[in-house]
Amino acid sequence: MGLDDLAVEKKRVVVIGGGAAGSLAAKTLQNYADVYLIDTKEYFEITWASLRSMVEPSFARRSLINHVEYLPKAHVVATTAVDLTDSEVLTTEGRMVAYDYLVIATGHMGDGPSTKAEKLNYYQAEHEKISSANSILIIGGGPTGVELAGEIAVDFPDKKVTLVHRGSRLLEFIGERAGKKALDWLISKNVEVILGQSANLNDNSNGVYQTSAGETIEADCHFICIGKPVASSWLKKTTFGDSVDVHGKLMVDANLRVKGHKNVFGIGDVTDIPELKQGYLAEQHALVAAKNVKLLIKGENEKRLATYKPASSALAFVSLGRREAVAQIFCITIVGRLPGLIKSGDLFVGKTRKQLGLSSNVN
Ligand SMILES: Cc1cc2nc3c(=O)[nH]c(=O)nc-3n(C[C@H](O)[C@H](O)[C@H](O)COP(=O)(O)OP(=O)(O)OC[C@H]3O[C@@H](n4cnc5c(N)ncnc54)[C@H](O)[C@@H]3O)c2cc1C
Repeated sequence: MGLDDLAVEKKRVVVIGGGAAGSLAAKTLQNYADVYLIDTKEYFEITWASLRSMVEPSFARRSLINHVEYLPKAHVVATTAVDLTDSEVLTTEGRMVAYDYLVIATGHMGDGPSTKAEKLNYYQAEHEKISSANSILIIGGGPTGVELAGEIAVDFPDKKVTLVHRGSRLLEFIGERAGKKALDWLISKNVEVILGQSANLNDNSNGVYQTSAGETIEADCHFICIGKPVASSWLKKTTFGDSVDVHGKLMVDANLRVKGHKNVFGIGDVTDIPELKQGYLAEQHALVAAKNVKLLIKGENEKRLATYKPASSALAFVSLGRREAVAQIFCITIVGRLPGLIKSGDLFVGKTRKQLGLSSNVN
């Protein structure tokens, strides 16, 4: 019997979380099992394209993808999972979704609108906020803050952009040289970067913000670009609580099975896999977990399960506007047009859409 024949067995696979990892896992498994995707929203958002959508709202028409578009054979349940047992997932409305196999891919908690139309409106409003302001304050110097500053500096060079970051350097998730090159690039575009301080958002009367060091920043609007925590706090209160480590990460083994659970997999940013948290790695987790779910459905010996080897030195690209980027490629750090050619034009949107079986463009 080939793997394609397995659909007749109709084992139930539930995937929680429809980000980079969960969407690909559900897509890969939909022909082999009765797949349910539970996600807080009706669509998958290509996270790394979100800052472009703030300066060019129509960009989001391609980077927001309704789950039903790539999951014609699966069930999409747009809600929040709040509890788990060894055989069922409880949703916030009190619905129990039974599973034979479970894939947990909750990454970071999404707090955005639940429909694509609402999210498109959100980007339109963010764009109007940017275009109507003369001065803009960005809070946070991680990838989100740096990419947003880059997008605004390139598309709106006349705006006064200030970026405030509590840490001593930008892009602390990758090497120091990358942070320095991003800093130099932003300064070259007239972005004012204030390091080692935070901005007080509770006291910004008349567009004047105070920093923790007592400096004042004048800005017509602000954007908070602080990384969200991983979405595992709900898991701690379940029977899976022992599988969450002190950092809130879901502990998985080399087969990507959640510690202590033979039929449950963990993939993506929510896991404790010791490597940089990157979407392209989350996608690789999804393929390994999907392969293992198929093998288990087929009744294969556990020894045949695929293993995942953490990336010892991951690649990271941070876009700097439409043409340039800073990249850390193993031990090399480069900034400018060359890394920009790889990421900054299309922000991997066409590639990601194709991976989900969709055309690169929308009509
Ligand atoms: C600015 C920026 C740029 C980046 N650039 C790149 C890049 O160029 N290349 C790259 O590879 N990576 C990049 N990354 C990293 C990449 O975005 C993440 O590694 C990737 O999104 C992780 O995917 P995930 O599926 O694990 O989690 P997420 O993308 O966070 O998805 C998790 C999903 O689960 C849902 N969810 C959470 N809790 C629940 C629940 N209880 N019930 C139901 N649903 C739930 C969330 O709403 C969300 O939809 C970038 C990140 C940022 C912030």
